Amino acid sequence: AKAGGRGTYVEYEPGMDADLQAKQQMKVSLRRALEKGELEVHYQPLVHLPTGRITTCEALVRWTHPEMGPVSPAEFIPIAEETGLIAPLGDWVLRQACKEATKWQPHVSVAVNLSPLQFRNRRLASDVRNILGETGLAPSRLQLEVTESVFLDGSDSNLRLLQELRQLGVKLAMDDFGTGYSSLSYLRSFRFDKIKVDRSFISDLPMSDESLAIIRAVAGIGRTLRITTTVEGVETETQLDAIKAEGFDEAQGYLFARPLPAERIPELIQTLHM
Ligand code: C2E
Ligand code: CA
Ligand code: CA
Ligand code: CA
Repeated sequence: AKAGGRGTYVEYEPGMDADLQAKQQMKVSLRRALEKGELEVHYQPLVHLPTGRITTCEALVRWTHPEMGPVSPAEFIPIAEETGLIAPLGDWVLRQACKEATKWQPHVSVAVNLSPLQFRNRRLASDVRNILGETGLAPSRLQLEVTESVFLDGSDSNLRLLQELRQLGVKLAMDDFGTGYSSLSYLRSFRFDKIKVDRSFISDLPMSDESLAIIRAVAGIGRTLRITTTVEGVETETQLDAIKAEGFDEAQGYLFARPLPAERIPELIQTLHM
């Protein structure tokens, strides 16, 4: 038990303490992981539906802890965000991804996820420009994926940063489209190059009329505004048929390929034709 106010004792809360402890532990090991090279970037293809060719590969960070084994980014990215480690981690992923993409056929782009916390860095655009310069990747081959949460926090300055990034010639994608409250209204604030419809709308297909109506509307918006439309999380042929019928430009999911280590990608680009 811990000492509370006025000489009382706070009840011991095993759940909370264990959680805090685990988080503290993970923060320490994550810092070490970054220094010791326990992190790796895997890549998952996005397939152009009319031709079946790979247009883009998305960089997804992987961590294998020496004792715990693989830790999901869904678990450690939030911790990196809370502890400020996201800045060096995000930098590292971006540099790694740009370097890797220079080895691919020149029509294939690389997509990198940016945390809204990386927008706290006022020099984000010049950092990106430097990484492109160092690695020699053409700016048009880099896509940055952000979620609408980038508009919630420091929205005006973040909007300016998005515009600066665009001026570099990189492409901007709105990730997890449809999961927030205002995905649609943010399309008015900033013209994204690409919309990625969240997996939750795809996993429902073809059973849910609601999901079908929503993805149909998104495909229509994309056509009207000339924004590339992508869906993530395609796992079955039935889902693929449904999104093809709606006229989506691209798709990503286990049906095509899982995220794979970098060395597997050049061959996949050569051979994958759906
Ligand atoms: P996300 O950006 O929405 O990435 C898509 C996630 O869906 C990835 O999970 C991917 O492996 C998974 N996925 C792809 N196809 C399928 C499918 O057909 N079925 C299912 N069930 N899942 C599929 P992952 O790699 O575990 O990443 C989870 C999240 O962690 C990402 O979601 C992204 O928000 C974040 N993340 C991953 N890498 C990075 C990074 O380098 N930087 C930042 N800031 N966030 C990252
Ligand atoms: Ca993403
Ligand atoms: Ca996504
Ligand atoms: Ca998602």
